[in-house]
Amino acid sequence: MAFDPMKWWLRSRADIDDVQDRDIERSCRSKDAYRSEAEARSHATMNGMAGVLFTYHCTYCDQWHLTRRKPRK
Ligand SMILES: [Zn+2]
Repeated sequence: MAFDPMKWWLRSRADIDDVQDRDIERSCRSKDAYRSEAEARSHATMNGMAGVLFTYHCTYCDQWHLTRRKPRK
């Protein structure tokens, strides 16, 4: 079977960018972005969503988003 660099690349980064990649459509384009993690977190808390929404840093827009998916650490 031929070596497919694209598949290899996607597979090798799947564990790292899992949360961010699947959320990019919804987070960068239709959701709010926050300048800091504290700001994102305070928004979640104000909306009663603390413990439901998790913050993550987005390397696409270099801001913070909220996601319902708990980031793996
Ligand atoms: Zn973003």
